[in-house]
Amino acid sequence: MNEEMFGPISDQATPPVYRYFNGKDWLTSSSGKTSEIISPVDGSVVGSLQAVTREEIDAVMDKAAHAQVAWEKMPLNHRVKIMHLAADWIRQNQDYLISLMVREIGKSHGESKSEIARTADLVDYYANEAQSIKGETLDSDNFPGFDKGRIALIERAAYGVVVAIAPFNYPVNLSASKIAPALLMGNSVVFKPPTQGGISGLHLVRIFEKAGVPEGVLGCVTGTGEEIGDYLVSHPRAAMVAFTGSSDTGYAIAGKASMKTLLFECGGNNPALILPDADYNLTASELVKGAFSYSGQRCTAIKYVLTTPAVRDEILPVLLRTMDSLVKMGDPRSPDTKLVGPVVSEKAAEYIESVINEAVAGGAKIVRGGKRDKAFIEATVLTDVKPDMKIVSEEIFGPVLSFITVASNEEMANIVNGSRFGLQACIFTRDEGSGIILAALLNVGTVQINGSPQRGPDHFPFLGVKRSGIGVQGVRYSLEAVSRLKPVVLNKPQ
Ligand code: NAP
Repeated sequence: MNEEMFGPISDQATPPVYRYFNGKDWLTSSSGKTSEIISPVDGSVVGSLQAVTREEIDAVMDKAAHAQVAWEKMPLNHRVKIMHLAADWIRQNQDYLISLMVREIGKSHGESKSEIARTADLVDYYANEAQSIKGETLDSDNFPGFDKGRIALIERAAYGVVVAIAPFNYPVNLSASKIAPALLMGNSVVFKPPTQGGISGLHLVRIFEKAGVPEGVLGCVTGTGEEIGDYLVSHPRAAMVAFTGSSDTGYAIAGKASMKTLLFECGGNNPALILPDADYNLTASELVKGAFSYSGQRCTAIKYVLTTPAVRDEILPVLLRTMDSLVKMGDPRSPDTKLVGPVVSEKAAEYIESVINEAVAGGAKIVRGGKRDKAFIEATVLTDVKPDMKIVSEEIFGPVLSFITVASNEEMANIVNGSRFGLQACIFTRDEGSGIILAALLNVGTVQINGSPQRGPDHFPFLGVKRSGIGVQGVRYSLEAVSRLKPVVLNKPQ
């Protein structure tokens, strides 16, 4: 069944070359240029993605712009049905999608399974929530000087064509979390999947197609960001760019996209602030989960700990014991692998290793891990780290947790607020009131008290400040973010 389902999206060679989707047909690009996707698990070639040409992008954009007009007019309950069908197709193909994702991006079997299940639930939840999005009316006489009659009928309208760009680390979930709300609110979507992770992304597009998204409403163009990114995000047909990826890429896209509406989820560099009255067992297990799940390749991963020297000395042995029982490095295909598999490529692993070495040369000490084998980096704990070392001033997408010691809560807040990133922070304390007071000092999107940073549950608001994002996501917030207010003002006869 999977072969029949996904057959059209590649040329069926071994390894296959994947086609792009113009909204109707799966096509071979005239560019002749391809990128090989190498599995970080075993170095094998998973397949190749094509780089589409500018003319091919123009054609997909034109088709999307024309199709959007009828799509927005389609009754919402029809669009909702299509999304529920897509969620069902995701569930029916979950085993196929899991093994593909494990191989393509090296995410463990368990984590891939939860990504797929969460995506199906998310698409259903979007569809249900879209049905309760409503407009409002306003009377003019609330405002001084407008005693006589105007009434504003305020609805939500689509933007038009949304360019959706997803990162490698959640290639199904973070693609669906852009495509589904944008389609539900009447936009058409031209999707650019990440190159590594793009094969998983193309399978998702095929699922939306099979669920009944009409011709032209969802297109998918492939090619590296370097090859097609600038042309795509500055395209005159695009009204909005919905992007998830690194802060540097986001910054570059914002410059190119000029007056388009932007919805960005970017990098994070999330701290854990441990107060002296914290529950150390709880804190240690949240640190392990937060820092090492999917080998630290999550925007919400914990990257550094702020605490006093005395608390650091007490929590470190608890942390190392917890790592002994919870962290095992191994093959992500095995159901036994706990938390740490490979990072996305050998090149990424070499970079992480070099930044660890740079920190050590600057005075940091390795208390656990620190070694690399091909694309695998050991779960690593560093102490004696300073806030200006690259290991914490940049977003290092790997399994590394750094300890920085401070003298006071104010010093913690100054370090957090001095960062260029502002996604999430977490505070560990038994006194929730102190946690709330400290949270108020932190300029980040979300503060978690007694839990590691995370995106879910997906209906909570999710946002980043500074270089961590633009706009707010989370089911209702995403539906609002991909639509605009459309007032029609009735001027009553005098
Ligand atoms: P990335 O290198 O910035 O790439 C993200 C996406 O942007 C990919 O599809 C990439 O395509 C594309 N791209 C690259 N250059 C582009 C350009 N000039 N114009 C248009 N598109 C371009 O990020 P990544 O390594 O895939 O993902 C990891 C990053 O995403 C981390 O920084 C992580 O924190 C962030 N992230 C944030 C969130 C959040 O919710 N805040 C969630 C997940 C991930 P190619 O793959 O073809 O280069």
